[in-house]
Amino acid sequence: DAKRNGRGAWRFFDSSAQKRIDHRERLEAIVVDALANEGFTIALQPICSVTKQEHVGFEVLARLFHDGIFVPPDQFIPVAEEQGHIPAIGRLVLEKSFAFFGEMKNHGLHPGRLAVNVSPAQFREPGFAEEVQDLLFRYCIAPTDLVLEITETALIGRSKELVEKTLCRLRAMGISISLDDFGTGFSSLSHLRDFSVDEIKVDKSFVQDLEASAGDRALIKGLVELAHCLDLSVVAEGVETLAQFEYVRDLGVDFAQGFFHARPLSPREAEEFLSQSQTSSMLQIG
Ligand code: C2E
Ligand code: MG
Ligand code: MG
Ligand code: MG
Repeated sequence: DAKRNGRGAWRFFDSSAQKRIDHRERLEAIVVDALANEGFTIALQPICSVTKQEHVGFEVLARLFHDGIFVPPDQFIPVAEEQGHIPAIGRLVLEKSFAFFGEMKNHGLHPGRLAVNVSPAQFREPGFAEEVQDLLFRYCIAPTDLVLEITETALIGRSKELVEKTLCRLRAMGISISLDDFGTGFSSLSHLRDFSVDEIKVDKSFVQDLEASAGDRALIKGLVELAHCLDLSVVAEGVETLAQFEYVRDLGVDFAQGFFHARPLSPREAEEFLSQSQTSSMLQIG
């Protein structure tokens, strides 16, 4: 009856809310433990130029394994952000990225540019630009080898001046700024007008249906034209198939990233990837 349904529904609601809290608390404990015990690593996913299909760089992705089990960033990043652990994780990811870059150079390999994700809370930390500058200096890395990927949520909010100042500082150093997951937020177009960025990264949700959806093809075509008019380059993420790759190429996208080209790789696999692609291109030239 209604009364029982009501009680049942309430109990169900109660237990799922409690489960959510337990889950978040457990995730936070895992994050704290990983920060204390070197639990974080990075994965590197190759990005290639669409026209020449040449390697141009990597996107760096944070990786967290707990008791050997993979914890996806989509789960731990929001919890870390909420609990104030993002600056520490962000710094770690930058350091690991720069250490990888230096190692590749020492081994005579060319990693290309590194694109590192920056969460809104990290981007809005006072002194973020200076911290990046210090790290670049300490690891002897040219600012032009670094791309910072920010999402639109980093731009929204009260302190528009602070955001614009940080963007200008980073770009004045020579660092490129990429607007990640472009198209999934709101008022994307006004962000292109109001903030100075170098690149947009078209979200994978626009790429996955390219074969079936004339609408998505038109959207990407329009975005590319708009971006190029504003002197921005365009990266397509989540390119999984040859057909998708051919579509993004024909629609004028500049760079592609996705399982079609390569999965996110461990640093060791990324080194292998570089040495294979760079010796084979040397053989072609020679
Ligand atoms: P993102 O920045 O949009 O990164 C791209 C995501 O797409 C990655 O998921 C990547 O593994 C996945 N991906 C790449 N190619 C394909 C493909 O062909 N098909 C499909 N279906 N997926 C593909 P991942 O590694 O799970 O990261 C998820 C999100 O977590 C990232 O989305 C980013 O927003 C966030 N994230 C990852 N690492 C960091 C970090 O170091 N700092 C911050 N703040 N956020 C991070
Ligand atoms: Mg990204
Ligand atoms: Mg992205
Ligand atoms: Mg995305």
